[in-house]
Amino acid sequence: MTHKKARTEGWNFDNSYARLPESFFTTMTPPPVSSPELVIFNEPLAASLGLDSQALQSKEGAALLAGNQIPEGALPLAQAYAGHQFGHLNRLGDGRALLLGEQITPQGERFDIQLKGSGRTPYSRGGDGRAALGPMLREYIISEAMHALGIATTRSLAVVATGESIFRETVLPGAILTRVAASHLRVGTFQYASKWGSADDLRELADYTLQRHFPEVGTEGNRYLLLLQEVIKRQAMLIAKWQLVGFIHGVMNTDNMALSGETIDYGPCAFMDVYNPETVFSSIDTHGRYAYGNQPPIAVWNLARFAETLLPLLDPNEEQAVKLAEDALSDFSESYHRHWLKGMRAKLGIFNEEAEDETLISGLLGMMQKDQADYTNTFKALTFDKPEDSVLFDSTEFKQWHKQWQARLGRQQESKADSQQLMRNSNPAVIPRNHRVEEALAAAVKQGDYSVMERLLEVLANPYAHAPEQEEYCALPGQSNLPYRTFCGT
Ligand code: AMP
Ligand code: MG
Repeated sequence: MTHKKARTEGWNFDNSYARLPESFFTTMTPPPVSSPELVIFNEPLAASLGLDSQALQSKEGAALLAGNQIPEGALPLAQAYAGHQFGHLNRLGDGRALLLGEQITPQGERFDIQLKGSGRTPYSRGGDGRAALGPMLREYIISEAMHALGIATTRSLAVVATGESIFRETVLPGAILTRVAASHLRVGTFQYASKWGSADDLRELADYTLQRHFPEVGTEGNRYLLLLQEVIKRQAMLIAKWQLVGFIHGVMNTDNMALSGETIDYGPCAFMDVYNPETVFSSIDTHGRYAYGNQPPIAVWNLARFAETLLPLLDPNEEQAVKLAEDALSDFSESYHRHWLKGMRAKLGIFNEEAEDETLISGLLGMMQKDQADYTNTFKALTFDKPEDSVLFDSTEFKQWHKQWQARLGRQQESKADSQQLMRNSNPAVIPRNHRVEEALAAAVKQGDYSVMERLLEVLANPYAHAPEQEEYCALPGQSNLPYRTFCGT
């Protein structure tokens, strides 16, 4: 008799995190959910991870992605970490998530596979460990949009509706998101080790982080200083990219800053429409701590918390350690500014460098703010040099600026067509506009209709295509959708 081998999902797990000291995690089996149903699945991502889409989209697949069954080779665990939440240090940890393990892809890359919304853990504090369908779909949409925009981010593999109700201000359907990340090492992981672990724990964590994300650093020299410098560099680049597309994270607590340099923990995030550095969408950010314009200084603040945890490793002499940390932190603003300026030049079609470029850029941003111009659509209109009727484009000030800009483009070797190509590649036609995201979520959550979300995901997958069929996704929200508010994804 021949047995047909059951189709396997393609898991290829390693569990290196579980080899860290025990205080960093708690292994546990996820509590099962009543009736898991897969509602959205990311086939291209599955393929790149070496996973079998068909097997994962079966009934057994849904059971795995809900935590009802444990994939072969996985070792589910909740990670311990801490974090400054709106400036206050708290002991946290995965209160509603479990790391299944690290999938080693056919290309030999390593990615954390995490279930978010998987139930209570020892770190849940008062929470129920669950997540609602809307916020998990929202993370799926925004993280995939960020990826397509070319911004380092955790990815979304799948969302499973649990069939259970969760209780917030109202009763909501529950869901579990499968999150894929370079790792879930956070600034808060180091804060946890520094405050609640031993000196050895901290060193092991630092060595682990170096090996996992910065293998090129090697074993020579002051490796921990290099770790700090590399993390700072990646954050400088990441935050510059956020600013260039108008992304507002919304809750830049230190537990939500990943050492890999990926955007992580999509809660009350949103894209800015009208250009204004004070823009805040999050209902809980009453003082604007995490406003658009504050993101670079907040990143420095968070990185300073990271640097503090590393002090004992930087130098045995505390004064010297502080000096090294301060010097490293002072590099952020130069590095951030360089990335931002390069990005802004590209958004305006500028290839070479002139000292006056910054004045040109700030001139435009100043007018945009004054005339309440839409950030994305203004750059899109400039890309095609088709200023539409608007307060901004009708103003004499703008017309003057436009002349200066054209003259500036004339002072480089590249042709007009080259400039336009650069602008097309640097100015997205579509971003996940708040009203479009809400519309997709409403259809999915209220009517079980995922077609609106699928169509939105398709458009967001090619943000630089500037295709005619994307045009309707560039429209601004009607007055009834304003002002937009976001809520923490809990
Ligand atoms: P977040 O705001 O999602 O970054 O989460 C901050 C902290 O609260 C983390 O430690 C989460 O694990 C925890 N948390 C968020 N939601 C829940 C929940 N529903 N149940 C338990 N813990 C939660
Ligand atoms: Mg978080």
